[in-house]
Amino acid sequence: MTRESFKTTGFVLRTLSYSESDLIVTFYSHDFGKLKGIAKGAKRSKKRFANVFEPFSLTNIIFTRKSRDMLAFIESCNIIDHYHTIRQDLEKTLIASYFIDLTDHFSPEGKNNEKLFQLLQDFLIMLSQEKVSDCAIRFFEMRLLKLTGFEPALERCIICKTPVTNGNSYYFYPRDGGIKCSVCARPERYDQSISTGTVRTLLLGKDMDIDKIKLIALTDSLAMESRNILTGFISHVLGREVKSLKVMEQVRKLCI
Ligand SMILES: [Zn+2]
Repeated sequence: MTRESFKTTGFVLRTLSYSESDLIVTFYSHDFGKLKGIAKGAKRSKKRFANVFEPFSLTNIIFTRKSRDMLAFIESCNIIDHYHTIRQDLEKTLIASYFIDLTDHFSPEGKNNEKLFQLLQDFLIMLSQEKVSDCAIRFFEMRLLKLTGFEPALERCIICKTPVTNGNSYYFYPRDGGIKCSVCARPERYDQSISTGTVRTLLLGKDMDIDKIKLIALTDSLAMESRNILTGFISHVLGREVKSLKVMEQVRKLCI
């Protein structure tokens, strides 16, 4: 069977050393979604694949493969954007690493999602140009959840369907994927309360114009609550914590 040849662009999600000289590279590509391929000789030939396989680099990829479910053979790969300004800044590098980790965890192999590619590109460009706050990280999470079919139900109580109203209190239930009002919730000790301010912020983040994100500043309590709700929900959906988030938060503690 002959190998068909394809061309696409993709972000490097991660690499795995395969043998003395080869690498297995996982991309999030524009035309094929998550794509895994072998780069023969990548560890030896610096010329053929010069520094292209660093996480979150955007690359042109030419690959061949026998069938969709087989490992791709990476023929050539060259850099479109290395995001230097992100790499020069530890905080930004950690945020970008978290973005690609989430993309990796939420994308099944071979399922194309052009909007997810665009989301990653938009947020990496924003990160390379601006100083971003935690609000941008939460908005990335909200958008990613929406695009991958895991959007939490925050607009109304999932039981009585009453829309969120200022002055009422709410609880968030990761296993139910949404909020309940105080009448329906019967909260227990460990249930997470969520303020209407947080609900409205997260809803806003779902589709707000990306250029306006930098104008939003959250109070410490809103930032903390949004973080706990969303990262708790993400861990619940994935069945584990996201390592790069932990690393980011540990480094921040050391740097304060
Ligand atoms: Zn209710």
